[in-house]
This record gives sequence, C-alpha cells and structure tokens, in this order.
Amino acid sequence: MPRRNVFLIVICLVVPSVFLFVPSFTARAIVAGLLLLVLAILLARVFTTRSRENESRRTRVEDEKETSQETFALGKLFDATMNGMREGLLVVDQDMRVVASNNAALRLFNPARETLETQRLTEITRNPAIYSAFLDALQGTERSGVKVETHGPERVFDLRVVPLGVGANGNRAEGALGVFIDITRIERLEHVRQEFLSNVSHELRTPLTAILAFVETLETSALDDKDNSLRFLSIVRRNASRMHDLIDDILELSAIEAGNVKVNPEPVELRPIVSDVINLLQNGASARGIVLENKVASDAMVLADARRLEQMLMNLVENAIKFNREDGTVKIRLERDNANGRDRIQVEDTGEGIPSQHLERLFERFYRVDRARSRDMGGTGLGLAIVKHLARAHGGEVSVTSELGKGTTFTIELPVAIDS
Ligand code: ADP
Repeated sequence: MPRRNVFLIVICLVVPSVFLFVPSFTARAIVAGLLLLVLAILLARVFTTRSRENESRRTRVEDEKETSQETFALGKLFDATMNGMREGLLVVDQDMRVVASNNAALRLFNPARETLETQRLTEITRNPAIYSAFLDALQGTERSGVKVETHGPERVFDLRVVPLGVGANGNRAEGALGVFIDITRIERLEHVRQEFLSNVSHELRTPLTAILAFVETLETSALDDKDNSLRFLSIVRRNASRMHDLIDDILELSAIEAGNVKVNPEPVELRPIVSDVINLLQNGASARGIVLENKVASDAMVLADARRLEQMLMNLVENAIKFNREDGTVKIRLERDNANGRDRIQVEDTGEGIPSQHLERLFERFYRVDRARSRDMGGTGLGLAIVKHLARAHGGEVSVTSELGKGTTFTIELPVAIDS
C-alpha cells in the first residue's frame, strides 16, 4: 500500500477520535458515524488501487507473453523460409566468417558437417570465384552473375553477393550476403541446344557442299559430256532430297517437342496398320531379298493414334530393312502384358546387330553407330528420336535389345485400352 494512503488513514482516524471524548452523546454518535464512513471510503480506495495495479501487472505479463510467442513464431517462420529455399544462402562477417547459412548452402558446401556457422569462407570452399565475389561485396561492390561450378556432383550455380550494412564512410561493409542459384538444368539445356544447332549445321553443310561442287563441275566442263552430266545431276538430286528429308525431320521433331503435335490415342486395329507399312516398304525390301512378316493377329486392338503409330512403325521397319543382311527377315508382332497393362509392339530383324555400348544413346538426336554409313543410306539420324517422342506422347516408351551378328528388336510399349 502506498505510504501516502497509510498517512491519510491515520489522520482521518485519529483526529475525529478526539471528538469521541466529547460528553454529548449525539455529538459522539455523529462523529462515530462520520468515522465509519471515512474508513469505508478509504478502504474502498485502497482496494481499487490494488486491483488496478494487479490488473495492469497482469496485462503487462500477458503482453510480454504474446510478444515472445510472436517472436518465436516469426523465428520459426524465418527458419522454415530459409531452409525451405532451393537457393543457398550464406552470410559472412567482416572477417569472412560465416554468421548465417541455410540447409541448401550446407548441402552445397559440406553435407557431412552439421553447420557452416563460425567457419571461415576459405575453410568451406577453395573456389576462388566465390572468395573474390564475397571480398568485393565486403568492399562495397555488389557482384552478380558469378558462375560457380562444383565437381562430384557436377553442378553449376549462379552466385550473387551483396554488401550488408555499408558503413558511414561507404566503403567497408559489415558483412556480405551470397545467394547461390542452381542453374545446372538451364546450363544442360543450353548445351543440348548448342549441340543440336551445330549438328544441324553440320548435317546440312555436307549435302550442300556436294551440290555446290557438282553444279560447279557441270558449269565449267561437264555439260558437253551427257553421261557425266546425268550422273552429276543425279548426285545433286540425291543430296538435295537428303536436305529436304533432314529439314522435314527437324521440323517434325521440333513440333513434337514443343507439344504442337496432337496425339489422340483410341482403340485401333493393329494388323491393317502393319500391312500398310509393309506395302509401302515392300519394294525396297524385296530388292535385297528381305521378307517382311506381319505376325499380328487379325483381331488385335491397341490404344494409339493410328497416323502416329504408322509413322513410328515406318521408321522402325525402314531401319530393320536398311540394317538387315541380304535375304534376311523382319517380323512385326504384338505381345500383351496384362499384368502390367502394357501392349508391346515388336519389330525384329536379322541384321548385323548393334554393339552394346551404343544402345543407351541410340535414341538421342543425330546419334548413329556408323555416321558415314547412315548418311550414305540417306538417313537423317533423327528417326529414332522421333519414335521416342511419339511413344512418350502416347504415355508409352520405346526400347531396344540387340545381339551382334544375330539381329535387333525394337519394342514400342503402349498402355492397354481399358475395355480390352
Ligand atoms: P538413321 O536416319 O541413321 O537411320 P535413326 O535415328 O533411325 O537414324 O537411327 C540411328 C542409328 O541407329 C542408325 O544410324 C543405326 O546406326 C542404328 N540403328 C537403328 N536401327 C537399327 C537396326 N535395326 N539395326 C542396326 N542398327 C540400327
């Protein structure tokens, strides 16, 4: 209780008490009544003050509790955000010691350790590009677009480092924050794009060079020599048609990859589609004594886009003829795998086979086992890549098995129609 209140109570009780000794009974009764009233008022005041104090103390405690809960929640949110990010974050102080980092940074630098905090930058990485970027940032210069490559696993990062809390003189920062953005995938795509462009240019240049050379020869001397002129013209025509095929295949592949080719799978009869393919390729096969056999049952149905399935089979059967031996055979059959809900259309040949080290890369664009031979045979090197994309667009896949000297089997795998 405040001392002022105690003093007041004493005064209010002692002074009127003197009147209690007055002889008049009435006066004593009035004074006693007044005394009681004052006492009651004083007590009420004391209790009100105390309860107000209690109330304010309680509010203060609750406020403090709420603030600490908020801080806790914010801290958790901050931690979750930092560690949920794919980008690695690293903060160093003026001495290049790590003062904060997230899980992505830990994975990037040293997954074996528990934390990067308190370590020097030079202890966690020997990469000079990272060191110099952080050093520049500490000297007040922001760095971005720094390419950082790590080995085992091979990854590429785009690093940006900004100064933190630049001092009043404006040149020495109190720390630096680095953000590591994983650009491995983008770099890989860029590499694939460049490789594709250089392949296309190379593939187009070869027939173009031949065309120019023979046209030049015709212009200078050979026109009078009719036999030679015809021979040269047929070479020009062959090379021009190769360029035409190549451009067709490139456009087709780009359209499929860009998702511009619509594939509408529906239940279709397989046998007539295989027959059409055989009819179209029969002449070329017969010229080399190769027999084409349609082994598909007459009632076999598959779930496919008929036009696109025919395109895939054309590519595979054409190859099976091209890379077959004289008097060989090509068989086309269907196997149903009910357990896995897959239809497997197989194109089997009796050709020379493919060495196993090539099998993994066979479906890449422009990949050939024997580049020169494929070109001589008029191949573009894109047929199998097109088949792979079309099979995937059906929700399926294409695969190959081969035995040297015995033959090769390509398999198009398609999901089975639900009602079959
Ligand atoms: P190409 O236009 O060269 O035929 P593809 O993409 O269709 O291009 O085939 C790529 C390469 O795969 C061919 O150059 C060839 O080396 C190999 N290949 C494809 N099919 C067969 C097969 N049935 N037997 C042997 N090799 C094959």
